[in-house]
Amino acid sequence: MSYNIAVLPGDGIGPDVVREGMKVLKKIGQRFNRQFVFREGLVGGAAIDKTAQPLPDTTFTLCKASDAVLLGAVGGPKWDNSPPELKPEQALLGLRKKLGLFANLRPARIYPALIAASTLKTEVVEGTDILVVRELTGGIYFGTPRGVHPQNGEQVAVNTLVYSTSEVRRIAHQAFEAAVKRKNKVCSVDKANILESSQLWRKVVTQVAAGYPGVELTHMYVDNCAMQLIRNPRQFDVIVTENMFGDILSDEAAMLTGSIGMLPSASLGGSVALYEPVHGSAPDIAGTDKANPIATIASVAMMLRYSFNLEEEALCVEKAIEKVLDQGYRTADIYSNGTTLLGTAAMGDAIASCI
Ligand code: NAD
Repeated sequence: MSYNIAVLPGDGIGPDVVREGMKVLKKIGQRFNRQFVFREGLVGGAAIDKTAQPLPDTTFTLCKASDAVLLGAVGGPKWDNSPPELKPEQALLGLRKKLGLFANLRPARIYPALIAASTLKTEVVEGTDILVVRELTGGIYFGTPRGVHPQNGEQVAVNTLVYSTSEVRRIAHQAFEAAVKRKNKVCSVDKANILESSQLWRKVVTQVAAGYPGVELTHMYVDNCAMQLIRNPRQFDVIVTENMFGDILSDEAAMLTGSIGMLPSASLGGSVALYEPVHGSAPDIAGTDKANPIATIASVAMMLRYSFNLEEEALCVEKAIEKVLDQGYRTADIYSNGTTLLGTAAMGDAIASCI
């Protein structure tokens, strides 16, 4: 079986970490007899420099014609003063919109070897393995009416939190499908005691749950969830929530686990999904072989699981990451006394050699 992957390295450390993701995928291909075909496209600042557009049509066509997209990162000081439509970050918004990516999946998983890097006590975070499923294209960030206008002699600002049944239904399905591949638990987070949009959210999620009898559904108010994530994160498997709550809770959940260089993500919804590390282009360490490639390699594991349905291969990548960390290998961002410091490429080699 052959899988076509559009590879968009982008800017800063993007090319460094994407190279390591491809290295691990190639090793998975050899071990499990799968063929991964990589085709590279320009995105972000790199695309602006060559084509004067952050997301050239050729790149979008390449993504559309592929089975999945692997993206590094975009942006950097060189383009900070460009006009808004010519900022590298426009490429991300364009890709999400054009590929119909309405579900953002962000795992927050504690690696046993890195427990000490968490700001919480070991006994609280030990065993944490959460997947936040955030609705990405609706809610208060996109609802209308919006804007600022004068009223009664002062300025008034308005944003609108709006969700339709179909928008809630499709994100709920994503969460339940993900839970089936994990521990069969979904916690839907809302503010149904106050917001009508949350009352509709809760009703629709409950209806969708009926189609997944093996999955346990609970509901939680967002303020309680923010507290429970810190108090007892192990209680959660999949958390599904609307755009703004998910924006905040996914960052909170992620920080349970330590460095930004460890955090993968997937954006799903359309026919082609996008996988990328949560971090940005880290211009301060670009080209120095200091970037941690684990976020990208863990994003590759998500690609294997969610786009290609290759669970065994996905687990193999995740176990290889865990093994290398257990052996004491670290990049600079997660280094501590008594561990062995590796550069970006050597960390990729170490993980690939454990496949
Ligand atoms: P950043 O995530 O790039 O960096 C924040 C800090 O974390 C830096 O000190 C950096 O060195 C460190 N860091 C990030 N990734 C790391 C890794 N893999 N290994 C080791 N250390 C790592 O965020 P920023 O500095 O706010 O933004 C830099 C540029 O990236 C900006 O142009 C921003 O717009 C862009 N950005 C892009 C994305 C994306 O492409 N998805 C996301 C966030 C920011």
